[in-house]
Amino acid sequence: MLMATKKHIVIANRDVLPDMIDSLRKEFNVTLTPDPRTKDKESFEQALQSANGLICSMIKLGEEQLADAKNLEAIASVTVGYDNYDLEYLTKRGILLTNTPDVLTEATADTGFALILATARRVVELDMFTRQGRWKRSIEPELFGTNVYGKKLGIIGFGRIGQAVARRGHYGFGMKILYNSTTPRLEAATPLQASFCELDPLLAQSDIICVTVPLTPKTEHLIGEREFNLLRPGTIFVNIARGKVVNQEALIKILQEGKIRAGLDVFEREPLPAHSPLISMSNVVLTPHVGSATQETRKGMAELAIENLRIALAKKRPPNLVNTQVWEQGHIHAKTL
Ligand code: NAP
Repeated sequence: MLMATKKHIVIANRDVLPDMIDSLRKEFNVTLTPDPRTKDKESFEQALQSANGLICSMIKLGEEQLADAKNLEAIASVTVGYDNYDLEYLTKRGILLTNTPDVLTEATADTGFALILATARRVVELDMFTRQGRWKRSIEPELFGTNVYGKKLGIIGFGRIGQAVARRGHYGFGMKILYNSTTPRLEAATPLQASFCELDPLLAQSDIICVTVPLTPKTEHLIGEREFNLLRPGTIFVNIARGKVVNQEALIKILQEGKIRAGLDVFEREPLPAHSPLISMSNVVLTPHVGSATQETRKGMAELAIENLRIALAKKRPPNLVNTQVWEQGHIHAKTL
C-alpha cells in the first residue's frame, strides 16, 4: 500500500511549544526557522520554497516574500491582527490565511487596563522615584496621579478587545463608556450603558482613551495632529491596537508639550528605536508590544493556529479563516502559478 507523503510545514514562531511540535511531526515534515525579522532571512525563505503550510506572526508577507513558495496552501498567523499580510496577493494565489481571535481578547484588554492604571497613577515614574532613593518624605503634589474610578472612558474600535476593555471600565471602575466603531453595537453596548459617539466628540469628551481598532487603509493615522488637538489637558491616551493607527510624530509633539499622558504598547516602528524621543519622556508608559504576552494566552493562540493549519491542510474550511473569498470562490491552491 502506498503511504501518503507528509506535507511540509514551516514554523517561524516561538509560541509553538516543544510538545506541540512533537505532535505536529507525527503528521507533517516540520522545519523550524528563526523569525526572519530578526535573523536568518535566508533559511526562512529557503524552507518556504517547499512548504505547504506556515505558522508565524507579524512577518510581512506578500509577493516579494512568497513568489517562490509555490506549494504554499495556508498560513496560520499566531495573531488576531493581519495587517502585515498582503491579503489581495494571498487571495489571488488561493493561499488561506487564518488568525487567532477571541483567545487573546481578555489578556489584551488586561494590558490596556494595566497601561491605563500605570499611566494615570504614574506607576513607572513613582517606581523610579522609590528605587532612586528620592523618597525622603511624602511625595509632592506635582507627582500625584489622576483618578481612574468614575472617569469617562472613550474606546475607539468596539470589537472583541474594545468591549473587553469597556467591561473592565464599567464593572470594575464605575466608568461612563463612550465608544466609536464603524456602526453602533447596541447589543454589546446596552448592558455596559455605553454610548456610541462620533470620533471627534469622543476625543474631546473622554478623560481616558483606549485605541483598539485594527490597522487598515482607513484607520492608518486615524489619530493625528488635528485629533490630538481636540483632547482635553490631562487626557490619558492608550494605544493597544497598532502603532500606525496613530501619527506618532503628532503624538510625540503633544506629549512634549505636556498636554496629555500616554500608555503605549505599539509603535509606528517596532522594536521602538533607542533614539525615539518617547524613550526619555516621563509622561509616557511604554511596553514592547505585549498585548497578548501571557503564558496561558500565547499557548492558547499557538494551539488555535495549529488547529487552523491542520484543518486547512486537510482541505477543510478552518474556523478562523480571514480571506473567506478563497473558500467561497473555491479556488484553493489547485491553481497553478
Ligand atoms: P475586532 O473584534 O475586529 O474589533 C475591531 C473593532 O474596530 C470593530 O468594532 C470595528 O468596527 C472597529 N473598526 C474598524 N475600523 C474602524 C474605523 N475606521 N473606525 C472606528 N472603528 C473601526 O478586533 P479585535 O479582536 O478587538 O482586535 C482589534 C485589534 O487589536 C487587532 O486588529 C490588532 O491589531 C490589535 N491587537 C493588538 C494586540 C497587542 O499585542 N497590542 C493584541 C491583540 C490585538 P465594526 O465591526 O463596526 O467594523
